[in-house]
Amino acid sequence: MDKTLITGLILAGGRGSRMGNVDKGLQPFRGKPMARHAIERLLPQVGSVMVNANRNLERWLELAAPVWADETPGFAGPLAGLEAGLIHCATPWLLAVPCDSPFLPLDLAERLAAAVEEHDADLAFAVTREAGMRPQPHPVFCLVKASRLPVLSQYLREGGRRMDGWYKELKAVEVPFEDADAFRNINTLDELHDLDLTRPPSLAQVVGCLSSYDPEALPVRDAQRIIREFVQPIRAVEKVALRAALGRVLAHDVISPIDVPSHDNSAMDGFALRGSDLRSDAPVTLRVIGTTFAGNAAAVVPAPGECVRIMTGGVMPEGCDSVVPQEFVSQDGDMVTLPAGVIRPGDNRRFAGEDLKAGSPALKAGRVVRPPDLGMLASLGIPEVAVQRRLRVAFFSTGDELRSVGEPLGEGCVYDSNRYTIYGMLQRLGCDIIDMGVVRDDPQALEEALRSACENADAIITSGGVSVGAADYTKQIMARLGDVTFWKIGMRPGRPLAFGRINSNGRSAFLFGLPGNPVAVMVSFYFFAREALLRLNGAEAPLPLLRARSGGAIRKKPGRTEYQRGILARGSDGAPEVRITGSQGSGILRSMSEANCMVVLHDEQGNVAAGDMVDIIPFEGLF
Ligand code: AMP
Ligand code: MG
Repeated sequence: MDKTLITGLILAGGRGSRMGNVDKGLQPFRGKPMARHAIERLLPQVGSVMVNANRNLERWLELAAPVWADETPGFAGPLAGLEAGLIHCATPWLLAVPCDSPFLPLDLAERLAAAVEEHDADLAFAVTREAGMRPQPHPVFCLVKASRLPVLSQYLREGGRRMDGWYKELKAVEVPFEDADAFRNINTLDELHDLDLTRPPSLAQVVGCLSSYDPEALPVRDAQRIIREFVQPIRAVEKVALRAALGRVLAHDVISPIDVPSHDNSAMDGFALRGSDLRSDAPVTLRVIGTTFAGNAAAVVPAPGECVRIMTGGVMPEGCDSVVPQEFVSQDGDMVTLPAGVIRPGDNRRFAGEDLKAGSPALKAGRVVRPPDLGMLASLGIPEVAVQRRLRVAFFSTGDELRSVGEPLGEGCVYDSNRYTIYGMLQRLGCDIIDMGVVRDDPQALEEALRSACENADAIITSGGVSVGAADYTKQIMARLGDVTFWKIGMRPGRPLAFGRINSNGRSAFLFGLPGNPVAVMVSFYFFAREALLRLNGAEAPLPLLRARSGGAIRKKPGRTEYQRGILARGSDGAPEVRITGSQGSGILRSMSEANCMVVLHDEQGNVAAGDMVDIIPFEGLF
């Protein structure tokens, strides 16, 4: 059956009573709303996906569109959701799955469709049979002929609520599936929590969500997606004093305990007055009855025809709603005169809570704290904040030809530069680093280094030894120690990459085996490891992709992503213009050093002509 004949339906309309009446599918699970997992697994199997939900419709719309509420009132269960789906289904078949089935089979549609075709049935649903157990039907996982809607509506009108109750009127077939775990649904918050901690996804599971996967020719985007899915944040929180939070990741939302500013106040040095005293057609003269400095509460209350001298930040006196800047008035004794129309009522007044309202989130969890954030936290009177503990990252270089700085350079040897580059990049990310030096191309030395790194760090970065030419045992050992995959990525520089998680003595760590070439190391670090390390630490900080005009022509082959080193400057017309640094060889570190940005030429892109716009990522951020 052609998949475009099937509409997928996520059943999310329940009360979630076993979860304490929360909207189940929206609960976070492995880094995203639980239903998102089901949606992502269903999407490649069907023409389109819709959702049945009865609450939080806006949030559901962010996950998938369209979203339909029950037609039969009173939370009549999954059948009412199925009914809503069938009413709005524009294809001959509807495939329903519950929103809390993050492991649903990737061949669900295919197998149910084969069964209805074979038996000329109205409906097919899944059953599993575990050894020694009775068959377990999963009627909520069903493929239904859309034209059977009247049968279902009739059953609901008669008060029927059982998911499989209305099958009696239909030709329904059972389809056996082997993997009972794939139909596992998550009913309680505890279950959700346990699963989240004890069953991190395997690479195979993550990769299974991609519609096509070829480790030998993996697009950059897919590699990034797999890494993002596989890497789950480590939750470890510590409290630090305000200043020490700079560069750290906020562990919780920071809720403002106060209104900022706490009072209506003046934005100018001048005179606070009643807007109703202003005239647009004639000058106004007012009596000055007192002065308010910043930090003093306003003691005086001007009557009509009166005003108060006020400094910037001074609390607005009662009854006043406008401030005339002092340079606009002429003063004579205790009288001031302002010309017609210099200000309008309400001018130059800041409102209480204009910056932040008490109870509203001032900063969100996951934010990397920057200088203005420190200031903002201080403005809220917050002396310490909860941050993620620093991520511990161990790294080493591999290669018999490598010499460390300080050693004599023998025939055919090179100094180990990657360790220094990696040191710098990790330091800038705010990691705690463990420098393990150079490890020889020797199986035992490599295994020892990997195990020790794994037992002492959250993540491991290695360089060298993952390309085709290198001694095979680097890969063998990495693979033997855990769930590691070896990719050839459609990119330049930096094709080979090892990625996964290894285990040793009950500890585990994420592994990035970067290529050996010095530029390839940096590029792979920035485009694969960086985001993963931030994510492990609970932070979201995507690299900002900007556009600039290319100053010259650039040769580029479609079908792979190229990262070229560029120098961004103002062009002759003042607009940003980027030029590629001389040689782009993957071993030429000088090209990185001279560059101030990376030019990103995406997969589809071909040759660039002078004057074309290209994507760039600047090396230095403002903060
Ligand atoms: P490999 O992937 O181990 O075959 O290394 C590829 C190239 O990168 C070789 O020319 C290595 O000498 C070079 N290389 C590997 N590791 C380093 C390092 N730590 N510092 C400088 N060059 C390296
Ligand atoms: Mg090597």
